Amino acid sequence: AGSGKFFVGGNWKCNGTIDSITKLVSDLNSAKFENDVDVVVSPPFVYLDMVSSSLTDRIEVSAQNSWIGKGGAFTGEISVEQLKDIGCKWVILGHSERRHIIGEDDQFIGKKAAYALNEGLGVIACIDVVPSWDNIVIAYEPVWAIGTGKVASKTRIIYGGSVNGSNCAELAKQADIDGFLVGGASLKGPEFATIVNSVT
Ligand code: PEP
Repeated sequence: AGSGKFFVGGNWKCNGTIDSITKLVSDLNSAKFENDVDVVVSPPFVYLDMVSSSLTDRIEVSAQNSWIGKGGAFTGEISVEQLKDIGCKWVILGHSERRHIIGEDDQFIGKKAAYALNEGLGVIACIDVVPSWDNIVIAYEPVWAIGTGKVASKTRIIYGGSVNGSNCAELAKQADIDGFLVGGASLKGPEFATIVNSVT
């Protein structure tokens, strides 16, 4: 793990029914989280309110998308204000499935991120389309910190891609991993709890 507080997000994507999500929430409510880790789950929009009101306060709730600005005549969209209204604290933006399948681009995702952050939501910002990470260093340079004499604190970089109950302990040991974004394995409460508890 890195020096930041470990963060584990579960992205449920377009999965679940009232029955399966009720079971998942009940498994998460009875799971023991042993360490000081930020735990966030991201249900589909239609179940957000139900999950937010039935899930333990130990776990925060995230949306999987949000609109670029204030709500209004935008059929099918959900605004940041509406997310905050039901107690949602986070939003996942720029997930590869939204980029590749829906066609969202950096400009559009950037606008969404700026709006959500300005309104006080936490953003789980996803980067993709990198053929190989071997020669990449991530330059985190907030504009307000450039040439101003003000210095930013380190941002957390989390890993996503086939994290599961068997490989999480090994991954969590890596000094450059501050947490995980988990897809498939976040749909199983006990396995997700194992992943949350993998940082020592
Ligand atoms: C994801 O889609 O963000 C993801 C990491 O999925 P999975 O864990 O299923 O590979």
